[in-house]
Amino acid sequence: MPGYEELESKIIQTNMCTVCGTCISACPLYYIQMVEGKPKRPKKKAACKNCSVCFDSCYRTSGEIISDGSIGQYLRVVSAKYNGSGTYQDGGIVTAVLRYAHDMQLIDGAVLTRGSRMPMPFVATCAEDFNACAMTRYGVSPVLMNIRTAIVEHELDKLAVVGTPCHIQSVSHLQQANPELSSAMVLSIGLFCSENFAHSHIAELMDFIGLEEEDVEKVTVLNGRLVIQARDRNTSIPVSDLKTWVPNHCLFCKDYTSELADISVGSEGSPEGWSTVVIRTKKGEEIFSELERTGQVSTSGIPVNELERLMEASERKRKRATIESA
Ligand SMILES: Cc1cc2nc3c(=O)[nH]c(=O)nc-3n(C[C@H](O)[C@H](O)[C@H](O)COP(=O)(O)OP(=O)(O)OC[C@H]3O[C@@H](n4cnc5c(N)ncnc54)[C@H](O)[C@@H]3O)c2cc1C
Ligand code: SF4
Ligand code: SF4
Ligand code: SF4
Repeated sequence: MPGYEELESKIIQTNMCTVCGTCISACPLYYIQMVEGKPKRPKKKAACKNCSVCFDSCYRTSGEIISDGSIGQYLRVVSAKYNGSGTYQDGGIVTAVLRYAHDMQLIDGAVLTRGSRMPMPFVATCAEDFNACAMTRYGVSPVLMNIRTAIVEHELDKLAVVGTPCHIQSVSHLQQANPELSSAMVLSIGLFCSENFAHSHIAELMDFIGLEEEDVEKVTVLNGRLVIQARDRNTSIPVSDLKTWVPNHCLFCKDYTSELADISVGSEGSPEGWSTVVIRTKKGEEIFSELERTGQVSTSGIPVNELERLMEASERKRKRATIESA
């Protein structure tokens, strides 16, 4: 029966581990922790009998689930924008969905990412928390390490998750692999993600150009450039120059649009300040159509050429992963 030792040798110590954090939540004895950016059972524990829960819960021990269609199954795709106030990465749709689901008691909390700019996994339980987590923080966030904490310490049993496609793939894997954790995961909001950048490199660039993290208003990828928007200036650098900033595990990842989420959200395909929203499931549709009906979000159809470009970007990511894996 494969246990922690196999997880470490086959997944964690190879490029397979995407640092999603699930194995940390999976261990019922809290033996696995984050150590220097990777999950680790710090030392051999007498009580660890290689029970295989951590190994079985890791989605990388089975294949990534990718559909035949380039952005996966969906009910509809729209451009959308939250109509209220606040500061958001794009159209503020992720945070609007979380607030609405919480108001309607569809969720009692969420595992999210917080931090001034450095991504930190965070258990959110109220609207103020959801708002504080808004904005994209480039860098790896082991969002799912907090599932057990949310259930046991925060006593939550209706959780949303917001994450990149690797997180959403992992949550989907838990449905079969770990009912103890998955029974609390009731809503998944996936982000688009072509690649991530190690936060340490972004922090070094900020040091180099003399920017404090608190001066930075937004970090985004626009027209093939990584753009750091600060109060008094913008700095941009072509993404093609940043290959060494991309974690190795991202090169093997095929899912661009979080194909297994209830709702997927990204900027590609929509004008600045708007989000492209892929509504995939009945649950996602019920929530999103209420946001539209109550005027909390405005929507417009996504032009065919933009949808085609989104699909092409998705295909490009698959092809890159196939080449890297060969
Ligand atoms: C690493 C990364 C790469 C991305 N790449 C693309 C891309 O290639 N193309 C594209 O169209 N869109 C990409 N996105 C998505 C985009 O940046 C926005 O997150 C998305 O458009 C939602 O905007 P919003 O205004 O609705 O979100 P907001 O309402 O501002 O909420 C943002 C949410 O993102 C979560 N979050 C922040 N940082 C992270 C992180 N590091 N890991 C997991 N969750 C996080 C927070 O928990 C928060 O709930 C990427 C996002 C991330 C995190
Ligand atoms: S569950 Fe996630 S963090 Fe743990 S080994 Fe697997 S990919 Fe890495
Ligand atoms: S007790 Fe089980 S889940 Fe925890 S580290 Fe050991 S093998 Fe993994
Ligand atoms: S490219 Fe894949 S592995 Fe890397 S952060 Fe995005 S979804 Fe995760």
